[in-house]
Amino acid sequence: MSKQNKGESASRGRRDFIRSAGILIGSAVVNGSNAGSLSYDTEAPPQTQNRDIQNGFFDIHLHTCFPRLPEIARPNRTHYPSPEVLIEMMNNAGIAKAVVLSTLSPECRYTIVTPEETLQICNKYPGRLVPFCNFDPRYLTNSTKANFLPLLKAYKKAGFKGVGEYIPNIFLDDPLNMNFFSQAEEAGLPLTFHLAPQKGGYYGCVDDPGLPRLEKVLKSFPRLIFLGHSQVFWSEIGTLKNPEERKGYPKGAVEREGRVVELMRKYSNLHGDLSAGSGFNAIARDPEFGYRFMEEFQDRLYFGTDIANVPQNLPIVPYFRKLKEERLISAEAYEKIAWKNAANLLK
Ligand SMILES: [Zn+2]
Repeated sequence: MSKQNKGESASRGRRDFIRSAGILIGSAVVNGSNAGSLSYDTEAPPQTQNRDIQNGFFDIHLHTCFPRLPEIARPNRTHYPSPEVLIEMMNNAGIAKAVVLSTLSPECRYTIVTPEETLQICNKYPGRLVPFCNFDPRYLTNSTKANFLPLLKAYKKAGFKGVGEYIPNIFLDDPLNMNFFSQAEEAGLPLTFHLAPQKGGYYGCVDDPGLPRLEKVLKSFPRLIFLGHSQVFWSEIGTLKNPEERKGYPKGAVEREGRVVELMRKYSNLHGDLSAGSGFNAIARDPEFGYRFMEEFQDRLYFGTDIANVPQNLPIVPYFRKLKEERLISAEAYEKIAWKNAANLLK
């Protein structure tokens, strides 16, 4: 199979070539010392040991999984990077350390990444990758009586530093979510969530314009740190001009501060994950507004990329380099958002 893949890849684009390379690396690992078993080599390659975090980024949000069969991909043929390709992408972008998210709820997935797979991957790169575990609130009993606490405690003990990416496509304040959030709060793990504009056709928890359900959960679980993410969340950095803005990346000046700003002022347990086009757009669409926003919330914002493809454009990387070089925000705020906040949160 590997020979055939190699031959075909010559005529394909770079993406497919890297894809094949990922598969080959994966096969080599599985067929090597662990031939015949499902376990993977856990010895860390020497070049990937802990790097100086102070000179690099701490990425709060990215995705990877061990290589799947070549056909197991999204309908447009894209797929997550393999761990080896991910580390290469991180090295190229100056990302010293990163949170690897698990994705369990089925909405819009082409494959599931369990906490166990995430932990195996992170254990291969100590000092570089930090694991987040995950649950779907319909697990166990599919009722508000489900007790996730023993499982959350077990994952915490095993080294997981948070929960996410939390994406069930049900209302954010659905009783099943409320039950799960109370137990995540009890376990003392932060939670990265994705918001969706509606049920169906999207992944993520549903909230309405103005984020009333988010306010309800922030108020209900004051000790649970919520890391906000996605278009629906970040489009409300400014007041919405129309509900359609929630589905994309609203451009132009932030004329009036939106609900995200208001909620962050009111609830200290709301933190901001700046990853993906949505987080980047929120701080970059109106540069002066973005600098003020980052100064004000410098203790609760986190650099992030949301790497989930090979290759992938990471516009936040040159943006952050420019922030530092041209001193567009204070050195203190820069250091906190680029790596310190994540290092403190995920100790
Ligand atoms: Zn993501």
